[in-house]
Amino acid sequence: MKIILAAPRGFCAGVNMAIESLELTLRKFGPPVYVYHEIVHNQYVVRQFRDQGAIFVDHIQEVPEGSVLLFSAHGVSPEIRQAARDRNLNALDATCPLVTKVHLEAIKYAREGFTIVLIGHEGHDEVIGTMGEAPEAIILVEDEAAVDQLQVPEGAKLAYLTQTTLSVDDANRIIRRLRERFPEIQSPPKEDICYATQNRQEAVRLLSEDADVVVVLGSQNSSNSQRLRELARENGKTAFLVDGPEDLDASAFSQGQTVLITAGASAPESVVEATIDWLVQRYGATIETRQIREESVRFPLPKPLRSFAQSTQP
Ligand code: SF4
Repeated sequence: MKIILAAPRGFCAGVNMAIESLELTLRKFGPPVYVYHEIVHNQYVVRQFRDQGAIFVDHIQEVPEGSVLLFSAHGVSPEIRQAARDRNLNALDATCPLVTKVHLEAIKYAREGFTIVLIGHEGHDEVIGTMGEAPEAIILVEDEAAVDQLQVPEGAKLAYLTQTTLSVDDANRIIRRLRERFPEIQSPPKEDICYATQNRQEAVRLLSEDADVVVVLGSQNSSNSQRLRELARENGKTAFLVDGPEDLDASAFSQGQTVLITAGASAPESVVEATIDWLVQRYGATIETRQIREESVRFPLPKPLRSFAQSTQP
């Protein structure tokens, strides 16, 4: 068996920043630290932090007054920020700057009187947060059929935005349909699907050509991980999305196969390593890393944590 190890894979700059923010918040304030939604969509990461005293909540009302609260990488609506202020919470914000970029675009277009078509997945934390910036101005579409059914007021100015973790191909198809129906529709100068999503998808698109099976490490509620599995399947490959090797079925693999391994932006490298070990032990797999792109993006910590981070450096 041969393993092709895709690079880049795994943690992106937004996830690194969010995880470091929660580590520092726990050290600075001590447990419990409340986190609005999962800090990132990964079971291992969430479990580890739970063990250290993080409490993940879906409603601000669950957080006792005056507590320390961290907003997750996916961002929150102004309503949630206000609810945190109303409860006198010490709120810190680990929203990825590339999600904030989409929020700011929504605010700008709404102020200028645009109707905004947001391309995204209903119910995803990021989509809920973005829609909350201008609920009266945003219409969510998930696919081309929704574009066909879109009702917009006569003469309305239109703009579109996208969730950061979509399939590039799906988004392009939806955007094409939007442009066909509404040739005047505007969009931000720089696209919203983030660099990490694009790079991980590009790696799977290119490298899965040489693989029989694709293993994506990531949790089922991780949007960008789901897209990687979809992409591999669209390329005609057997593909699995698993949290770790314990979720793999040994009967799905055999000697002589080439297995592409990648990881979604919220999956830690430790689960990649555990999966490699699992395949090496069972099939004597050899490993070849293929790097299709370099990544050097880093995001700053939330302001209230920066001086603490410096003071804790050796
Ligand atoms: Fe930010 Fe992209 Fe990572 Fe999401 S996947 S946290 S948008 S860099």
